[in-house]
Amino acid sequence: MKIVRALLASVGGLIALAAVLYLAGILQVEVGNADSRPAGTVYDIESLKRRDDVNVLFILTDTLRAHRLHSYGYERETSPTFDYMAGTGIRFARQLAQSSWTKCSMASLWTGVYPQRTGVLRSPHGAPEEALMPAEIFREAGFRTAGIWRNGWVAPNFGFGQGFEVYERPLPQTRARHLRVENPHIKLEGTDLDALEASIEFLRIHGKERWFLYVHLMDIHQYLYDASSALFGTTYSDIYDNSIRRTDAIIGQLLTHLVEEGLLEKTLVVMASDHGEAFSERGLEGHAREVFRESTEVPFILGFPFRLEPGLTVEQRTRNVDIWPTVLDLLGLPPLPDTDGRSLAPEIFAAASGREDFDDDIVGVAHLDRGWGRESQPSRPAVAITLGPYRYVLQRGTGEPNDPELESLFDASEDPLERRNVIEDLPDVAADLRDLAGEYLATEGAPWGEGPLEVELDEMEANQLRALGYAIE
Ligand SMILES: [Zn+2]
Repeated sequence: MKIVRALLASVGGLIALAAVLYLAGILQVEVGNADSRPAGTVYDIESLKRRDDVNVLFILTDTLRAHRLHSYGYERETSPTFDYMAGTGIRFARQLAQSSWTKCSMASLWTGVYPQRTGVLRSPHGAPEEALMPAEIFREAGFRTAGIWRNGWVAPNFGFGQGFEVYERPLPQTRARHLRVENPHIKLEGTDLDALEASIEFLRIHGKERWFLYVHLMDIHQYLYDASSALFGTTYSDIYDNSIRRTDAIIGQLLTHLVEEGLLEKTLVVMASDHGEAFSERGLEGHAREVFRESTEVPFILGFPFRLEPGLTVEQRTRNVDIWPTVLDLLGLPPLPDTDGRSLAPEIFAAASGREDFDDDIVGVAHLDRGWGRESQPSRPAVAITLGPYRYVLQRGTGEPNDPELESLFDASEDPLERRNVIEDLPDVAADLRDLAGEYLATEGAPWGEGPLEVELDEMEANQLRALGYAIE
């Protein structure tokens, strides 16, 4: 018995060792070493419109909080690939996600419309067929389109597959099996290595045509990491950083593949996230619960088919509803209709010309209906309004004595971590932002008409979503 156990242990040890060596290899792949993109300037950004050979790679890293990336000021080296792309492209320093829950946030990101108008606020809601999605515009323009996703909230039955020729959850591959053993807490099937493999497969078939590829990565949501990325410790928060480091390496591998195929110099790389993650800053962990700084400030990086030297930073407030208006504008493609977001081309060209004076007057909105997962619960909206250094957060309760309405105001110019509620000290600012929140909650009418798609979840789908850790009725 002892011998068998020893044998099993040594086999397990060998597998683990092989896994460590394999993934250590991934970590050493730094796209920068191989980058074959020519140097470019702002004039090359302006002339993207006239090129007919530019592909678009959209990497959506689920649950990626901006403050945990090194290029966004974090002291730990969690993110060499993101940092490299930021350093040779454009980093948007103050990017606001429109919700802290994937489905609500992605509906706004894709359509350029705030949650109150999309109406995608609760678990059965989706984007109806009448909504125009960026993939439909790309397909109409002759791109081959594929979406590879691992989060059930962006499944095709919620309307997110519109315009994609292929829209699939990748099959779990055996090569990632060791990760399942090392991460027994994870219930969601597969890992982002499956998404990497499926992406490479798509590029093998369609890489030489013009393409739009959306890859939605999930391992950070799952806190998945391995021995090679276990660099930062063992607390919950450390493990989140370990997981970022691992996902960063997987993205590095995808970009390195593009380099090897001669595709990176023909590709606009769009790196974004749907929401951040909280670590008890205000007593709450995770996301999809509130709309404070921790769960709504996300990265947004554009990498061009050329290297900007040095990379640019846009310091103004920008929002996920601006992402597709910007990309479609830069590529000279038709716009999305009637968006709340707008093209950031003026901010990009201002940053490129070295202008440091700018109006910081863009209002940002993040919105979560905290009753989203339970049909029996009434609507309990939390709305954040950002303007300049201020963030006003309205938490509307049910009106019951144990669930009152709460308000907070933060001034990031004095208090960068936004820990001190200054609503009593700045009554004029509070009044202005309170009005904006009220106006926002009174807006209605999506570009496609009234109301979201209403989807009936079957038990299998509900179980897949529960596997992500959500409580759904
Ligand atoms: Zn998410």
